[in-house]
Amino acid sequence: MVRGNMSMTFDEFQELIEKMYSRKDRERGSAATFLWLCEEVGELAAALREGTHEDLEAEFADVLAWLATLANVEGVNLSEALHKKYGAGCPGCGGMVCTCEEKP
Ligand SMILES: [Mg+2]
Ligand SMILES: [Zn+2]
Repeated sequence: MVRGNMSMTFDEFQELIEKMYSRKDRERGSAATFLWLCEEVGELAAALREGTHEDLEAEFADVLAWLATLANVEGVNLSEALHKKYGAGCPGCGGMVCTCEEKP
């Protein structure tokens, strides 16, 4: 049970989203879910421009929730995916502190 706990792993969060929304999410499908994710990214942009810190928190949460939803629909475990891609350092240079050249 997550309620009341201030910290959550990605696994717990993705499971929570799965429990709350998976039936609706699978009916809606990836394409429509992706549109919702994009809409939330737009709301995050608006909050960055003119929102309060509370607005920012809410929109970051929405973006992650819709990303987790999309991952659920596609059968991707976010925790595993993050570990695979970033767990051993930067995918570009392999360093735990990135030393990749920034392109101008
Ligand atoms: Mg939102
Ligand atoms: Zn790097």
